[in-house]
Parts: sequence; C-alpha cells; structure tokens
Amino acid sequence: MRYLVLTDLHANLHALEAVLAAAPAGTYDRVVILGDLVGYGAAPNEVVERVRALDPLVVIRGNHDKVACGVDSPDEFNAIARQAVLWTHRTLTAGNQEYLRSLPAGPRLVGDRIEVCHGSPADEDEYIFDGADAAIAFDAVARPVCLFGHTHLPVAFVRGRRRLEARLPEEGDITLVTFEPDHLYLVNPGSVGQPRDGDPRAAFAILDDEAGGIELRRVVYPVDAAQQAIRDAGLPPVLATRLAAGR
Ligand code: ZN
Repeated sequence: MRYLVLTDLHANLHALEAVLAAAPAGTYDRVVILGDLVGYGAAPNEVVERVRALDPLVVIRGNHDKVACGVDSPDEFNAIARQAVLWTHRTLTAGNQEYLRSLPAGPRLVGDRIEVCHGSPADEDEYIFDGADAAIAFDAVARPVCLFGHTHLPVAFVRGRRRLEARLPEEGDITLVTFEPDHLYLVNPGSVGQPRDGDPRAAFAILDDEAGGIELRRVVYPVDAAQQAIRDAGLPPVLATRLAAGR
C-alpha cells in the first residue's frame, strides 16, 4: 500500500494544490493526514473541503484544529497564532467546524506497521524536536513506523539496536528513507502549508509499506499568491512574510 502523508496544511490551499499536483491520484492508494488542517492560512474552508474530497483513510486532529472548532481554548497560543485561529473560527462554516470536531486524537494505528500522531505518540500536543525528545517518544510507539507532525520540520529519527540517529532531507526534491528490519522510525514529513526548516517549498511524504520506505518530498508552490490571500483576509502580515523564508 502506498500512502500520501500530509500534515500541518494550515489553510494554505496554494501549497496543498501543488502537493496534489506533484502526487496525483493513482500514484498512491490512500491519504493519511496528521492534523492542523487549518490555522495561519487564508483558506480554511477550501482546505477542509479539499481534504474531505480526498476521502482519507485517517485524519487526526491538530492543536489548531481543536481551537478552530471550539474543542480547546486558545490560551496556549501566542498572540499571532491566537489572532489567526480566532479568525479561522469565525470563517469556518458550521459544517466544516463540525467536521473538525469529529476528528479523533492521535495516536491511531494504520495497518500493522504504521502509527500516526500529531505531536508525539505519548501526547498529541507534545513536540518532538531532537534526539532526546525522540528517545522518549520511541518508548511510547506501538508500531515500527510512527508518523508525526506539529514541529513543521521534516526529519526521520531512526532507532537501531545501538544508536539513535536523525536523518534530515537531502537537497533536491526527494529523500528516500529505507526501512531496515529491527529498526524503529519516527518520521515527520514536514509541513504542507507553513514549512519552518528554511526551505519555503511545501513538504509531504509518500510511504510505501510493501517496498519498505518513505520518500520525504518537496514541491514549489506560488508562495506570493498564498501571501496575498493572507493579507487580503486581514490576517497578521507576519504570517505572509514567513512563508517566503520557510520559517
Ligand atoms: Zn502546525
């Protein structure tokens, strides 16, 4: 089975469309989404509707989804994120809010080899930034491959018998991480809609559980159009400028 893995779409329709053009239907079997469909970007309804039309195998909620649909309060958010999520809450249709409210918390199991979560397998709102965070998370995984998001930083943490290493994406459009027997993997595809690793291109992944590997992929999208949509919506301008820096 080939899975298209998307996370942290953040209401960036331009980025999502570029990803779906780079990974057209027929090049994967099912879609898996790790949360944060909305928040920050200008197209929350369009992105939720585009996601629903993909008929994903699993969609779990992110912290922005929870606040945008009223399941959680924005108290933990910084001022910019709070302003954006309150705008998102006002902008989302009742039907799309209902959809976000229906999303389950991670972690969830996908088949017998894969687990998905938004933040970490131990806690949906926790961040896995470095090897120390990954070491704790590996103790909580239930499957050899655990997919996560939340940090907006693409990375594959690999735990072998003797050591834990972090593999970062290589230059170019595709980095292949091959699954070795007796190893555990914690993989973040990176963010579709608001990358933060200094590369403004939209990030996503294709996991092939028969071939035994995951491709970390990047694709260019019209950043200027997404920025203009953010300014036109009256969202904080920094949410537009950061897209060009990929930070
Ligand atoms: Zn996010």
